[in-house]
Amino acid sequence: SGPELAAVVAAGTVDVPDFPKPGIVFKDLMPLFADGAAFRRVIDGILAHHRPDGRSDGFDVVAGVEARGFVVAAAVAYAAGCGVVPVRKAGKLPRKALSASYELEYGEATLEVHEDAFIAGQRVLVVDDVLATGGTAGAALELVERAGGTVAGFTVLMELAFLKGRERLSPRTVHALLTV
Ligand code: AMP
Repeated sequence: SGPELAAVVAAGTVDVPDFPKPGIVFKDLMPLFADGAAFRRVIDGILAHHRPDGRSDGFDVVAGVEARGFVVAAAVAYAAGCGVVPVRKAGKLPRKALSASYELEYGEATLEVHEDAFIAGQRVLVVDDVLATGGTAGAALELVERAGGTVAGFTVLMELAFLKGRERLSPRTVHALLTV
């Protein structure tokens, strides 16, 4: 259930004050990833949300945002029986890539995706660990569409509501297992 999943995410998260900069409370989800039962429950929870009847519909491929989004994306893709596409930080992809720059809660960054990462019209479920200001997600969703995919959904394990990422991404919808 929703409240149960939220509790699993909360229990697997450690707040790290002043990382990577003073004033930022970093939400470390590595304990959740390291706990096999909790990890399976959140991955199954994401899948249940996007494929509520268990059929192979809703999305065709999963895109994950570097780096913690890769962990979630690969597991969701494997459980769904589909492929995974990495959305990477600048300069990491070996072939011709599209790029989008954005501002972070702590700095500025650029994301990239291979220009041939998606088949035209492919439905892409985009996942990341934490939604903060929404800059990262906005760039990732933009890249998916510029590369020919259709955004089928955007899911995070945790949403930091006070940073208003959901509003920034509107009219796109955000699915968060836990909103704090
Ligand atoms: P934003 O672009 O502001 O929504 O930031 C989201 C991205 O930065 C995600 O990839 C998160 O992993 C990371 N991030 C931003 N703020 C935090 C935070 N307070 N704790 C953990 N990760 C964060």
